[in-house]
Amino acid sequence: MRRGLAVANWKMHGDTAFLGAFAQDFLRAFRCALADARRNHANAAEVVICPPWGYLSQARELFRNTDARLGVQDVATAASGAFTGEQAAPMGRDLGATYAIVGHSERRRLFAETDAVVAAKFRAAQDAGLTPILCVGETLAQRRSGDAIAAVLKQVDEVAAQVGLSAFANAVIAYEPVWAIGSGETATPPQAQAMHLAIRSHLARSQPALASAMRLLYGGSVTAANAAALFAEPDIDGGLIGGASLDAEAFARICCAAAPSGAPP
Ligand code: PEP
Repeated sequence: MRRGLAVANWKMHGDTAFLGAFAQDFLRAFRCALADARRNHANAAEVVICPPWGYLSQARELFRNTDARLGVQDVATAASGAFTGEQAAPMGRDLGATYAIVGHSERRRLFAETDAVVAAKFRAAQDAGLTPILCVGETLAQRRSGDAIAAVLKQVDEVAAQVGLSAFANAVIAYEPVWAIGSGETATPPQAQAMHLAIRSHLARSQPALASAMRLLYGGSVTAANAAALFAEPDIDGGLIGGASLDAEAFARICCAAAPSGAPP
């Protein structure tokens, strides 16, 4: 059984006061949410918080001795060097991160990141010991023209062509339809499941064991109200959560919904 995973992507939000309050409220709310669901930490989803880079050290202290892990929202393609303003994957590892989001649609759209750049970031993350969370997703135009699955599989293939498919054994894919991110419009559970199944089946053609073990997340306007229905789908193993992850109570309920299906009640 794949372990559920809930990842908070705070984007460029928060400050030291927010982080302090969030940690306290989240840890309390998550314990309560688990108790309400009659689950314990042993069968709970893995929780990853991705604050802005500057707050990683504070987050490491606040979540020390808890089950929550840390991630970074992006990494440079290089491990070090003269790249003013960039943040290298080994620095993230040094600051306590174990995951790195790569290829988020905001990076692709606002910072012109191509699949080749995303692949280089995927490799940089793995080289530093971080697990990449590779974001893929179609635009509204691609969905309307019936090209959604082809567009998403092409993004997966472009990265796989450069890093090798076996590198996906230590990675997570997050399916995030571009039209659903921050829009309040969520893919329906059947729409999201269809895409997740397409990704898993595509990977399974050459790597069946890897494909069945791989965790596939859904992202795009997930809330405490819609998370359970999405995560109940057989190929959706949890979520990459933006806006709702800034609300400690809501994120705690989402994390609880991301427990693997079939977990003991
Ligand atoms: C995201 O930023 O990855 C995301 C899914 O955002 P939101 O949940 O706000 O749509």
